[in-house]
Amino acid sequence: RRHRKFRVLVLMSDTGGGHRASALALAQALEKLYPGAFDIELLDIWSAAGVWPLNQLVRAYKYLGRRPMLWRLLWYSTASVVTRGTIKAWHDAQHRRRFASELGRRRFDAVVSVHPLTQHVPLSALRQELKSTVPFVTVVTDLGSAHPMWFDSRVDRVFVPNAKVARLAMSHGLERRQITEHGLPLRAAFFAGPTPWTSWKQHRRRRLEQLAQRRAIPGVAIVGGGGGVGRLDRLVDEAIRALEARAQRAHLTVICGTNRGLRAALDNRPPSRYVRIRTEGFVSNIHDIMARSDVLLTKAGPGTIAEAATLGLPVLLTTFLPGQERGNARLVVDRGFGVLERRPDKVAALLCDWLDDPAKLAQLSQRAFDAAKPDSTDKIATDIASMLFSSIDDPTTRDQNLN
Ligand code: UDP
Repeated sequence: RRHRKFRVLVLMSDTGGGHRASALALAQALEKLYPGAFDIELLDIWSAAGVWPLNQLVRAYKYLGRRPMLWRLLWYSTASVVTRGTIKAWHDAQHRRRFASELGRRRFDAVVSVHPLTQHVPLSALRQELKSTVPFVTVVTDLGSAHPMWFDSRVDRVFVPNAKVARLAMSHGLERRQITEHGLPLRAAFFAGPTPWTSWKQHRRRRLEQLAQRRAIPGVAIVGGGGGVGRLDRLVDEAIRALEARAQRAHLTVICGTNRGLRAALDNRPPSRYVRIRTEGFVSNIHDIMARSDVLLTKAGPGTIAEAATLGLPVLLTTFLPGQERGNARLVVDRGFGVLERRPDKVAALLCDWLDDPAKLAQLSQRAFDAAKPDSTDKIATDIASMLFSSIDDPTTRDQNLN
């Protein structure tokens, strides 16, 4: 009956790597489940239509990601109920028309937001300025907690990763019927195969067999989110020192993300007798690197943690962004597939202990698998598609954007 594709506008921002990764995951799932049916556009609306300094969010995040005290101040002050109202009113007054004109230039059948700052003003722009009733969906890409800005009661649906975030959504005014709990959207490579469950189960069996045997040269993936943050150079130094002291062989792969300075510094290190290091910039095959590794050292990024769980990869958390990532660290510890240790020398000692103890690694891996939700992406994509199909079939909710 339809002669054109369904157009989905995904609102996001490259603050870290997680929002884009989730957007791509959903796009892949929609294409896999409904080949050729969807046209998906990613829009960083703050960079495109924000006024200074809000059009600089991506740079600001990089700056703040390396300054946890400042980040803490910003996170908690914007989360408080008093400042939140003021900030929303200010953002709205300054940006509603600008966002309306940015959105008004496009045609789309649904909006999917995967960023905490793309609910409030885009909804005001759509509903108040453009008088559009196009379905608006939020997919929360945080894991152990979520900033209150994620939640706006005007959304048609919010997808949350777990019951804790569902409760948070309700405490911020959403109704139960608006909330769906599936998990974080992850890119298909993390559970590649025609059906997530069968290929994931095969992977789980292989991984557990592999970890139960001591490997001559175990692999360690070191990741600091998309931006390569979290003092990775110091961690690598300590890890190498500890491994050499125990004459323990290991292969470290350090994923520096967009942090070029870090990569250059690591590449200038003198060679080590026992430890091989490979540095990478921002890679598109992070799943391969993680799948080859026995342990992941990382900051408590939600995407990276959910990916590690899906791959059954034990996690050694070395830091977290105050506020935003604290709950993620708690989740890893509670679910028993990793620990949080912030002192680099202790991280290094723990790493050596784990690499020396296949039974421990296998146990952590089993628990990581138990925490995984490999079918979450397909479920979210299916729900979004059915919402879209029913809104289009229903003439009363038909939007002026449709033609
Ligand atoms: N990532 C990637 N390639 C890289 C570094 C990171 O694909 O070289 C991905 C990673 O797999 C994860 C995301 O970027 O999906 C980082 O998200 P996370 O939520 O862990 O942290 P953020 O960078 O958003 O703070």
